[in-house]
Amino acid sequence: MKPITHLFCKSATEMVPYSPIEPPDQIASRLGLKEEDIIKLDANENPYGTSPKVIAALAEQRYYHIYPDPAQVQLRQAISDYAAVGPDKIVAGTGADEIIDIACRLLLEPGDRVLSFTPTFSYYSHVIALNKGIYTEIPREADFSISLEKARKVNLARCKIVMLCSPNNPSGNLVSEEVLNYFLDQDLVVMLDEAYFEFSATSHVSKLKKHNNLLILRTFSKCFGMAGLRVGYGMGSSELISAMMKIKPPFSVNVAAEAALKVCLENLGFYRDQVRQIIETRERTTEQLKSFKQLQVFDSNSNFILCRVKGFSAANLCHELEKTGVLLRYFGTSLLKDYIRISVGTANQMDIFIKRLATFIH
Ligand SMILES: *Cc1c(COP(=O)(O)O)cnc(C)c1O
Repeated sequence: MKPITHLFCKSATEMVPYSPIEPPDQIASRLGLKEEDIIKLDANENPYGTSPKVIAALAEQRYYHIYPDPAQVQLRQAISDYAAVGPDKIVAGTGADEIIDIACRLLLEPGDRVLSFTPTFSYYSHVIALNKGIYTEIPREADFSISLEKARKVNLARCKIVMLCSPNNPSGNLVSEEVLNYFLDQDLVVMLDEAYFEFSATSHVSKLKKHNNLLILRTFSKCFGMAGLRVGYGMGSSELISAMMKIKPPFSVNVAAEAALKVCLENLGFYRDQVRQIIETRERTTEQLKSFKQLQVFDSNSNFILCRVKGFSAANLCHELEKTGVLLRYFGTSLLKDYIRISVGTANQMDIFIKRLATFIH
């Protein structure tokens, strides 16, 4: 056969693969453990699983043989009632990931720049590269905040987008009002990723009224336990959203995801209780982690906790805990080589994790 790889575009060829997260049943069989022994603290998912009401609604849905509505009328209305933003200012996609991609496709010409402050969500660099943009990464401060002074010094020539993640994944801290306002006043689109806003109870959605260059991202993957069903949404000015609606794949959000999402939004009390529980567990776990002098623990506004490991290898720690079925996130990038990110599981899962961590450290 003739070679074909020279036909692939340069950005795809040169791209670093997105580091995959293995499905729990696969990990269990690789480790020789039972699936119920896996404590999955590596992807910020909802540890309580999918709500039984969602599962029932999926079984009852009648229209799996019909294409979903490309105009997303009911879907946007349901999100609108939840987010208190008009349906014409909302676009849904297969995860917030797809919204990021659609925005990049809308905004970027080859060679345009996208600015972000790292470490942050690693998928950004992937989507930017695929859309033939150039990613400019400015390092965050030691506490992972963004320095306004440094931000002001960044040359914004040909910069179309700035990505701000709040709470930031993986550090869990919020973006400051001054940094956000500074970028909103520039000639670019501010993509504000609020994937974890339910855990921080902080949103900048009110800024949509005054700023038509703001795009806020949200997802049903984290608080609503729908990571496997894939729905997220963007909120922005009607100019921005109608352009994104025009170019998005017509049927991206599937019928099952739409049915599930409606049930989630009709049962907000159920999820608010889970969020309260997760925050309580996060606070307790943070205090327990702080008692290990080998760890530097970062206070989080989200459903995960970042720790710097001192005096031993973070990679090795993750590897050893994985053997026991406890999965943590190790990034291995130059900025995060000594760090681990721990998703907040159930209270019981965190007790087991802390015990195994103590055994490893001592
Ligand atoms: C998980 C996550 C998303 C994407 O979630 P989807 O599952 O694609 O909706 C976006 N941004 C951040 C920061 C995330 O952590």
